[in-house]
Amino acid sequence: MNDIDINNLKDINTCNIIIKNLIQEKQDYLDKINSLNKQIEEIKYTKYDICSKKGHNLITEREMGPYGERFTYCTICNLEY
Ligand SMILES: [Zn+2]
Repeated sequence: MNDIDINNLKDINTCNIIIKNLIQEKQDYLDKINSLNKQIEEIKYTKYDICSKKGHNLITEREMGPYGERFTYCTICNLEY
């Protein structure tokens, strides 16, 4: 939907129609975002699987700061353990 000239809105019914359309447009974007997130996660797991067949290259580091926790990850595929 194109940008709406809000100053030209004069009646409740038109406002309601526009609101309904905008909510639908918003939902379409949210659905698209969910779909993209799902694809990203699927490809990440595929990547981890490919890497695991050749063997991860795991290293352990400590986070910066006085109470830094240790974390282990693969330098090839970035999988965290
Ligand atoms: Zn790996």
